[in-house]
Amino acid sequence: MKKQIASAVLALALILTGCSQGANNSKTDRTQYKANIKVGTVEKAGDLLTVEGEEEITFKNYSKDTWDNVVLRDYNPSNLAEEKANADGTYHTAITGITQDGKDVVFHEEQDPSVVTATLANAVKPGKTGKITVKFSLKVPQGSCRQSYSFVDEGSDKPEDIVIALGPFLPTLPVYENGGWAKDSYFPYGECFYTKCADYDVHMEVPEGYEACATGSDKRNDDGSYDFKAANVRDFSVLTGKNLGYFEENVDGVSVKVWYYENNEAVKKAAKETMLPASVNSIKIYNDYFGKYAYEDLDVVMCSYAYGGMESPAFVRINDEYAKLSADMSEEQREHHMIESLVHEIGHEWFYSCVGNDQYNEAWLDEAFATLASMIYYEKAGDMSHDIEAEGISWQNSWKQAGSLKVDLSYSEYAKAGTNDMPGEYRYTFTVYSGGASFLYELRKAMGEDSFRSLVQEWYSSNQNKEATTKQFLDLVVKKAGKEKVNDLLNKYFSKENIPA
Ligand SMILES: [Zn+2]
Repeated sequence: MKKQIASAVLALALILTGCSQGANNSKTDRTQYKANIKVGTVEKAGDLLTVEGEEEITFKNYSKDTWDNVVLRDYNPSNLAEEKANADGTYHTAITGITQDGKDVVFHEEQDPSVVTATLANAVKPGKTGKITVKFSLKVPQGSCRQSYSFVDEGSDKPEDIVIALGPFLPTLPVYENGGWAKDSYFPYGECFYTKCADYDVHMEVPEGYEACATGSDKRNDDGSYDFKAANVRDFSVLTGKNLGYFEENVDGVSVKVWYYENNEAVKKAAKETMLPASVNSIKIYNDYFGKYAYEDLDVVMCSYAYGGMESPAFVRINDEYAKLSADMSEEQREHHMIESLVHEIGHEWFYSCVGNDQYNEAWLDEAFATLASMIYYEKAGDMSHDIEAEGISWQNSWKQAGSLKVDLSYSEYAKAGTNDMPGEYRYTFTVYSGGASFLYELRKAMGEDSFRSLVQEWYSSNQNKEATTKQFLDLVVKKAGKEKVNDLLNKYFSKENIPA
């Protein structure tokens, strides 16, 4: 994610996100999600929009334990709670039924309703495959959270101007490791997503005349429905609505589409003149710096969003406020935020989408790299308005202001460290994003450009479609740079248990 936090003390534009561990990536080992989705409509603005779905999940038990149960993550109730933060309401899982081999499966929500435990009718032994069918009914609010709908112009509620964005919305299996499923709580200020790469085959019915795009390839059928296919991706996101169009360009074999609203000239202009060139340019730069982009295409979409932007594999979502004419931001500020969010989220295609990590417990691993990516972008694009040295210093200062905490902690540890002056979510953001990026900045200086670049290229190429850890990264740092050169730096930024002996 890219987060925008402004406070009297700290007025900084930052960016957020995250991915997991080991395991094969052959098709037979990957979980297969086959879903049929039907997107509803709303009678009037403010109503909840319903998305009905049925999903067949075929999974292989890659652990050493017999799976008597599986956990499904369903973020719909947490999303509703986030959107309606001030309303009294208890929200429950969108899952309405689960079956296995024709038998009903008993399931229950845990305290965090995004965690649903299903007791399998037939346990699945190590190395064996199981299949469940999950029915669900999402309630999508008007607003600006990960699952939301909005209108092209604020104040308008014309049905033809609706834009529906569904971030991770299909119930999915989290990573199973160390004898259990990843169950870390949903929180609004960052991500708790932690999944393995999987294959998605999604048929989606949309109201008449809607356009849609999603993670992976898309095919529009004669009846107006869509078929999306995505292989080896960590999650699946969709944008749909009326009167959507796109500008397209090919870069290094990747088809980049930037979507806009036909009924909003400012958004259309920004898509063509700012976002398409910056998207294409960032892919070129990151291909060269980190290694080749892992997917065949990239959809960049704009919609209402509470933060700057949000990443998903081969799919990037940017806050449309940056493209609209707004009284509280100058043209220059809007463009600055737009590009910064965009190139940060595109950076996540390398770090989170392709090289995965546990986003709740080790968020720095993707956020610091995405923050660094934006600096690399400005540097290589020759944008002299960004003083790289000053950026490095400002990252360090933000990290210090947030208490110089170790960058490799979990969200709950930052939350615990919160005070009135500096709430936990601020500590999280300034430590994970700014502190993490400050470490990479200092490491780059200490190692020198060529060695640093070789390090990040090896990190990327050796962990593609896997889930990586801080410990693995620091092992590689020590291997490439030598312990002596980086020892002080590692002690400054990392917990003892992650530093190689
Ligand atoms: Zn991010």
